[in-house]
Amino acid sequence: MFEGLLKGRLAVVTGSNSGIGLGIARELARAGSDLVLNSFTDRDEDHALARDMAKEFGVEVRYIKADLSKAEEARGLVEKAGRCDILVNNAGIQHVAPIPEFPTEKWDAIIAINLTSAFHTTAIALPMMRKAGWGRIVNIASAHGLTASPFKSAYVAAKHGLVGFTKVTALETATEEITCNAICPGYVLTPLVEAQIPDQMKTHNMGREEVIEKVMLDRQPSKKFATVEEMGGTAVFLCSDAAAQITGTTISVDGGWTAL
Ligand code: NAD
Repeated sequence: MFEGLLKGRLAVVTGSNSGIGLGIARELARAGSDLVLNSFTDRDEDHALARDMAKEFGVEVRYIKADLSKAEEARGLVEKAGRCDILVNNAGIQHVAPIPEFPTEKWDAIIAINLTSAFHTTAIALPMMRKAGWGRIVNIASAHGLTASPFKSAYVAAKHGLVGFTKVTALETATEEITCNAICPGYVLTPLVEAQIPDQMKTHNMGREEVIEKVMLDRQPSKKFATVEEMGGTAVFLCSDAAAQITGTTISVDGGWTAL
């Protein structure tokens, strides 16, 4: 349905060797966009992923290693891309602990990767978009950017911050052909969510399936995980001309979580 829609564009997708970032990158490529994939690793399989995607979708795909917890690497990622028509700030990490026990280094890392990196990439991308006369920024926030859960203090703070940053970016670009919006996913079964399941099993003294059903999907009225393809489809829509007047807003892709 979106085939060819983004032909000739170059998208930089942070944290795109796994999960939602990879799903979004694949849907952008399916819509014809060239890509820069990114993560903090520099393995053969990261470069192979880029080569395989280029072949599968007939677009140009590069992989650029950058640790987004570091300002100079976050800025360097977009500088090395050389152009940036579409910026998807997706990279994120999570840690779950009560506030008094929350390790300071985890707090700092979550704020740096989930929030501050978006400031750095946007600061470099905006002049490029202005020069090109067109741009789309899609920030991957969360249902936790609009609501909260106990024990996720840094994550909730970072995602609320990202929603606020999205609005400011939209206001600073409102008269230009540049939009900035946030997608707020509910639960998607990615490595980030898989990693939370063993702790939840211990906390709630439940088996894996019970945690999924009674703890995770209990918050999601659809009672099923959202998919990375659904996140990708939403991102492609936000990058399309049909969405030219949509800016500064959040789109929840959460099976009804935030409607409750
Ligand atoms: P994931 O763990 O599969 O992917 C996270 C990506 O970020 C990976 O590519 C990882 O390599 C990258 N990353 C982590 N640290 C990095 C760093 N220092 N520098 C560069 N890249 C780094 O998780 P996911 O679920 O796909 O999460 C993607 C985004 O979606 C995150 O921002 C997350 O908060 C958000 N999100 C996920 C869910 C969910 O249910 N999975 C729900 C709401 C929001």
